[in-house]
Amino acid sequence: MARHDTTDADHSVGTEHALNGSSNGGHESTRPAEPVDTRKLWKFVLLELERKVSRTAFDNWVRHTAIGKIEGDQVVVTGPNVFSVQTIQSRYANHIEAALSSQLGRTVSAHFAVAGQEANALNRIKPASSSSRSDSNGSAQRRGQAASAEGSVGMKQGRLEPATSGGLNPRLRYDNYVVGSSNQLAHAASLAVAENPGHLYNPLFVYGGVGLGKTHLLHSIGHRALELNASLTILYVTSETFTNEVINAIRSQKMDDFRARYRSIDILMIDDIQFIAGKESTQEEFFHTFNTLYQNGKHVVISSDKPPRAIASLEERMRSRFEGGLIADVQSPDYEMRTAILRAKGEELKVNLPDDVVQYVAHKDQTNIRELEGALNKILMMAQLYRRPLTLQLAMESLTDASISQRRAGVTIQDVVSAVTTYFKVSEKDLSGRNRKREIVVPRQIAMYLLREETTAPLKDIGRALGDRDHTTVLHGIEKVEQNLEKDSVLRTQVMAIRESLITRTRT
Ligand code: ADP
Ligand code: MG
Repeated sequence: MARHDTTDADHSVGTEHALNGSSNGGHESTRPAEPVDTRKLWKFVLLELERKVSRTAFDNWVRHTAIGKIEGDQVVVTGPNVFSVQTIQSRYANHIEAALSSQLGRTVSAHFAVAGQEANALNRIKPASSSSRSDSNGSAQRRGQAASAEGSVGMKQGRLEPATSGGLNPRLRYDNYVVGSSNQLAHAASLAVAENPGHLYNPLFVYGGVGLGKTHLLHSIGHRALELNASLTILYVTSETFTNEVINAIRSQKMDDFRARYRSIDILMIDDIQFIAGKESTQEEFFHTFNTLYQNGKHVVISSDKPPRAIASLEERMRSRFEGGLIADVQSPDYEMRTAILRAKGEELKVNLPDDVVQYVAHKDQTNIRELEGALNKILMMAQLYRRPLTLQLAMESLTDASISQRRAGVTIQDVVSAVTTYFKVSEKDLSGRNRKREIVVPRQIAMYLLREETTAPLKDIGRALGDRDHTTVLHGIEKVEQNLEKDSVLRTQVMAIRESLITRTRT
C-alpha cells in the first residue's frame, strides 16, 4: 500500500523567482522524495477550494471532506456520508481535481467514497490493485460493495451509514478542541451529553457565528459518546443533508425506511438547523423525529447560527421544544484563546510555530476561528511553497497578500454603512449625526473600524462619510473598538457578524 512519492519541486521553482528568490534556489531536485503528508496536502487543497466555491457550499459540503488515499495519479476523496459524497462528486469534482493537481504539481484524478470505504473505491477504479486491506475495515467494505451491487445509492446505502461512521469527521474531537471563556458553557454541556446521553440538557442547542466551533463540538460529542459506549447509534447530519433525505424519501416513497432509520438513533446531531426554517415538510418531519427520540430518552443536539427565538420562520412548537433544553452560545475567542488555538493547530500539524508568528496572527485576526486557521494555513503554505523558514517576516508577507487587498477593493463605504445600520437597526442619519447615546455611538465606532479594516478608503473619506468628522475622531473611534475587542466578547461577536454579512454580500 505504498503511499505515492512526489516532489513538488517543479511546482515551486517558477514562483520562487517571482517572489524574491530568497530560497536555496535550484537544488530541489537533489532532495530525496518525501512521502506526501496527506493531511497537510488536504489542508492546502481546502484552503484553495475555500476561495473557489461559495461559503455555503464550502461549509456544507467541501469542508467535511478528507483525503482517503493516493495511488499514483488516482486520489480518493472521502465525505462523511453517501449524500455528501454524491453532492461533492457531482458539483465540485472539477474544482477538487484542479486544486489537488496544483498542490501536487501533477495531474491527478479524484474519486469519491464514503469515509472508511475508500479501499473499496480504489478497487472499483483499478481492478488491478485488487488485494487491498482486509483488516477491520472488511465489513465496511463488504457493506459498501453490497450496497453498490444493489445499484441504488440513496436510502438503501444511506441506511448503512450510521453503523459505519455516524457521519463523524475523525479530525473533529475534544482532543483538539481548545476551551476558553467564549465556549466554556457549550463545551461543558456537550461533554455532559456525550458522557450521559438522554439525560441532562436535552435537547442541547448550541448557537453562534460562523467558524466558532459548533460543528467541531457536535462531532466531538459523537466521538466521545462512541468511545464510552461503542454500541450507541450516533448520527451527525447537516440540516441540508437531513432535508435532502426527507425529500428523497418522500419522492421514492421510502418514508418508512427514513423514519425507522432516524428513530433508532441514540444521539442525533443536526448541524445548522437555521436552514430548515421555512421548509415545511422538513420541519414537520424533524418535529416528529425529535418527539419520538425525546420520548424514548434519546438525545438531540442542534446547532444554529442564532438562538431559537431569532430564527425567522421557525415553527413556534419547534422553538418551544428547543427552549425546553439547554441553549448555549459560542462566542468569538479572545486573544488568549486565539493564541492557544494557533499553538494547538501547530502541534496538530507538527510544525514549530515561533511565538512572534503566533502573536502576530492572533492579533491580526480578531474574530473567527476558521479565519484564524485560514491565516495560519496560508503562512504554512507560503513556507512550503517557497521553502522559507517560518518567521514573522514570512507571516506578514503571507497575510498582506493580494486576496485581502482584493477583498477590500470590492467593499465600498456604502456596503459597510448598510451592513452596520442593518445589523444594529439604526438609520444612516443616526450614524452620521451627533447623537452621543451608547446605542448610536457603538455602531458608529464599529462602522469606523470596519471601514478601515474592510475598505481601502483613507481616514479622511471615512470621516466624511460619517457626518464630516475629522480624521482624529475617526482614529479615536477605531482605537476604542480595537481596545474593547480584546475584552468584550459581545462586541467581538457583533463585529464578526457584520463582517460576515459583508463578505457574503460582496462574494455573490
Ligand atoms: P462552525 O461550525 O461554528 O462554523 P467549525 O466547527 O466548523 O465552526 O470550526 C471552524 C474551524 O475552527 C474548524 O476547523 C475547527 O476545527 C476549528 N475550531 C473551532 N473551534 C475550535 C476550538 N475551540 N479549538 C480548536 N479548533 C477549533
Ligand atoms: Mg458549522
